[in-house]
Amino acid sequence: MIGVECGEMTVDEQIALASAISDGLAGKAVALINGTRIVLDALSGEPSPDEVMEIVKGFASRRKDSAEWSVEASEGSIVVHSSDPLSRSRGRKDTGQLLPDNLFKCPFCPFVTPYEELYVVHYRSHGFA
Ligand SMILES: [Zn+2]
Repeated sequence: MIGVECGEMTVDEQIALASAISDGLAGKAVALINGTRIVLDALSGEPSPDEVMEIVKGFASRRKDSAEWSVEASEGSIVVHSSDPLSRSRGRKDTGQLLPDNLFKCPFCPFVTPYEELYVVHYRSHGFA
């Protein structure tokens, strides 16, 4: 069965891509999200990898940040790459790494505080002025 690796996409994007694949296959198969992978559950026929590839490429090219995306076939899977996976992983909702605006996060260690004074004292403890 064909799978689409989409670990570099946000959860919202994965959902949008899965529904685009389901729509594109028009009842032949339905796309389900399984962790960082979209898997196809065949309903009335096996979709071809080329068919799924076209849908994924079409989805990526319609995005306003399409220049950041690339799609490639790899060992029976289709892999969606982002040119900036780090910033995307920071914004991922499912990892709990999206901090509220009122918190200060040390860039050097896991220290987090809502108090700017404490943050400055902590930051300096790493040896920075
Ligand atoms: Zn620190």
